[in-house]
Amino acid sequence: MKAPRETEELTLVGAGLAGSLLSIFLARRGHRVTILERRPDPRIAGAVGGRSINLALANRGIHALERAGLMERLRPLLIPMAGRMLHDEDGRLQLVPYGNKPHEVIYSVSRGGLNAMLMDAAQASGRVSIRFGQTVEGVDFEARSARSRSGADGAIRDFPFRVLIGTDGSASAVRAAIMERAAGSLSEEPLGHGYKELSIPGLAGGGFPMEKNALHIWPRGEYMLIALPNADGSFTATLFLPNQGDESFEALRTEDDVRSLFERRFADAIPMMPALTRDFFANPTGHLETVRCRPWSFGDEALILGDAAHAIVPFHGQGMNAAFEDCDALDVLLEGAVRPWNGIFSAFESQRRPNADAIAAMALENYVEMRSTVREPLFQLKKTIAFRLEERHPRRFIPRYSMVMFHRIPYSEAQRLGAIQEGILNELTRTARGVEEVDYETADRLIAERLPPDVRLPEP
Ligand SMILES: Cc1cc2nc3c(=O)[nH]c(=O)nc-3n(C[C@H](O)[C@H](O)[C@H](O)COP(=O)(O)OP(=O)(O)OC[C@H]3O[C@@H](n4cnc5c(N)ncnc54)[C@H](O)[C@@H]3O)c2cc1C
Repeated sequence: MKAPRETEELTLVGAGLAGSLLSIFLARRGHRVTILERRPDPRIAGAVGGRSINLALANRGIHALERAGLMERLRPLLIPMAGRMLHDEDGRLQLVPYGNKPHEVIYSVSRGGLNAMLMDAAQASGRVSIRFGQTVEGVDFEARSARSRSGADGAIRDFPFRVLIGTDGSASAVRAAIMERAAGSLSEEPLGHGYKELSIPGLAGGGFPMEKNALHIWPRGEYMLIALPNADGSFTATLFLPNQGDESFEALRTEDDVRSLFERRFADAIPMMPALTRDFFANPTGHLETVRCRPWSFGDEALILGDAAHAIVPFHGQGMNAAFEDCDALDVLLEGAVRPWNGIFSAFESQRRPNADAIAAMALENYVEMRSTVREPLFQLKKTIAFRLEERHPRRFIPRYSMVMFHRIPYSEAQRLGAIQEGILNELTRTARGVEEVDYETADRLIAERLPPDVRLPEP
């Protein structure tokens, strides 16, 4: 088996968020990288609409971008979001902060802008070449070649590779090839809910039509509308609904159906959405699922990462962040590596799989929190108590949301500690009705008994 060499030529499939960032890390280690990308160059053709125009970037993603030397360039494009701005059915607003400290914010970033910046930086390295309009349709592992169809003329071409890395997203062709060749297992668990992107334009004279520094949510129990700010004063809204049922995408057949749902449930959003029904019928309905598969690699030939290995539902705002953390983790494994590629691939999978499983589960849980429980007084009380406990025990009690979004404590550890925290908060709120009624002596005792002295220790 061959060990990674400085001069190695690597082939990536997919120049999305993970592929573009990974190519930069690999180029910095001296590799030459060719990326086969299905789309035409989005910097020339324009980004494809209808699929999360903006994204929430958090600490894990920022750390990876910092290590790749890109954060300084990206920072001016980011819009901080300090919390969730809840819109109730009467149009009343309530800001529920994400974190307990001023710097604990997440950032809205344009997917197209970020992807373009990553592609620019990759190509500027002089070691990365992106072949646009190439859709990989199959992999021949024996011949070490990837079969690709040209978007320009449909011509089929075989691209030889030495090492192939699939960063080709949730419907990954490289994953399909690995599953077939390695007799792997694949589960694609549909959420049963889909999403639709809608637009909220900026104000005519410039400026934002709602609070700029927040992620807006209209939680409605079984479903929700959300909106994230864009740099030009607009917001991109996303409607999440069940696929079927009385209030579902299936039930919204006419413009009147859509208008009626919004009038009943999202009335305060209507004046801000002049193109509501046009957007609704022009934009595709997105599908949401959790993808779990094994193995993530085949021999020393191929590896998958990012959504290709572990696509998750978007409700923790962590899919891209987890994909960037994958790139960072692989880069760290490559540091001074003399191991063969298959050793690196196995180490990567052992390290990342438990974390991918954990964030997949937490992302599913967060859908219920965002669309429903966030409105409940008990949820808000627990959140406030958790912040108080964090102030009392800053190294020991970091709320689960903060561990995921503002730290790099492994996802699996955040999930484990979060379950212990939830038990403590349940006990404390059995008797306390308000934050001042909490028995902090009991809280301190439970924390000392159940939580490790420094939960930040596993942070690499
Ligand atoms: C509605 C929604 C909202 C989201 N919000 C957030 C958020 O706020 N924060 C967050 O962290 N994450 C969010 N995500 C998740 C995030 O979009 C993904 O996790 C992230 O894009 C994964 O990056 P990737 O590079 O692995 O895959 P992708 O970004 O999907 O990139 C895959 C690339 O591969 C190319 N490709 C695909 N198939 C082939 C092929 N056969 N041959 C050649 N090229 C191919 C594609 O054209 C694409 O360029 C959201 C997702 C959705 C759907």
